[in-house]
Amino acid sequence: MITLIRNAHIYAPENLGQKDVLLAGNQIVKMEDRIEISSSLIDKEIDATGLYLTPGFIDAHVHIAGAGGEGGPASRTPELLLSDMLKAGVTTVIGCLGTDGFTRSVESVLMKVKQLRAEGVSSWMYTGAYQVPTPSITGDFAKDIALIEEIIGVGEVAVSDHRSSVPTTNELIRIAAHARVAGMISGGPGIVNIHLGDARDPFRPIYDAVEKSELNFRQFFPTHINRNDYIFKDALTYGLNGYVDITTSSYPYYQDEEIKPSTALRLLLEAGVPINHITFTSDACGSLPAFDSLTGELTALDTGLPASNLTELKDAVEIEKIPLETALKVITENPARILKLRKKGVIKEGMDADILLLNSDLSIHSLFALGTQMMENGSLLKKGAYER
Ligand SMILES: [Zn+2]
Repeated sequence: MITLIRNAHIYAPENLGQKDVLLAGNQIVKMEDRIEISSSLIDKEIDATGLYLTPGFIDAHVHIAGAGGEGGPASRTPELLLSDMLKAGVTTVIGCLGTDGFTRSVESVLMKVKQLRAEGVSSWMYTGAYQVPTPSITGDFAKDIALIEEIIGVGEVAVSDHRSSVPTTNELIRIAAHARVAGMISGGPGIVNIHLGDARDPFRPIYDAVEKSELNFRQFFPTHINRNDYIFKDALTYGLNGYVDITTSSYPYYQDEEIKPSTALRLLLEAGVPINHITFTSDACGSLPAFDSLTGELTALDTGLPASNLTELKDAVEIEKIPLETALKVITENPARILKLRKKGVIKEGMDADILLLNSDLSIHSLFALGTQMMENGSLLKKGAYER
């Protein structure tokens, strides 16, 4: 399949102005001001005048095989639907297990990664769960990272949370050290995705692990840094040295506590945190329970959706006045670099043809995943198996 996209305004995420882009198979093969090619060689030509062309979004923390369960069996969440991913502009998703490392398995996350790949999008995953010792497929999470191509790191390992295994500093050091070496062997990032709970001084376990070892902050990828005001305040300092991942899908549910993701991005930048350290992830398919403040009874259940990243991108640009080329990095170039997804996150010749065409209001016009068009004029051309 050869597709020529003409006259698009390219945000690579760098603002490159108007260009033509040629897709062949699953790759971007050419990008020039004007591509001259015989129309007989092209399967499809799209006039993208007035549209922005950006990398497909990367969502680096999604409970793709379902999660939740903290409110009893009725609170278990369903698996990620391909259509929810596509409608959010996401062409690459990183799966993780979550709280329930007891009855849910890493194997089910791996099989979901394989299903998503079979449906035409890109997916990798973390092995493990909240718990330490870390559940794995081979019996050793580091072997999972070294041997299984789909597995790029371990997580989300919970710290500073009442649901965590309260790993000691030495345990956290050993997890990060083994993940790092396993990543060296596999050629991947070997990173530790860290779930931050709402304990005070939540980054302390990471500071301790780095101070008492040879490890670098880059081995840790902590998420939920906008969970409440005191965690976010610590993130303004931590972000000067380490990565800080903003969770987007829980904000509308916990507006009294959480820092709105797009506002959090502006505040981090104003505090001098390098843009290269900041990411958005949706935490989609995580459970979002509401409890009665008097009785403690569960009153509502919902799950996060991947579309929250796009919503917050729009608000970052329109409300917080962050340039599009800057805001885009948190869901394209940054996660690709942090997670060593070498063919992802940037529009350039030789990269995977994961491409979005956005309208001027940043709504989705078209989506290509690995060169195949999956959305056109805002409508889905493809849905997942069994979706109606
Ligand atoms: Zn989490």
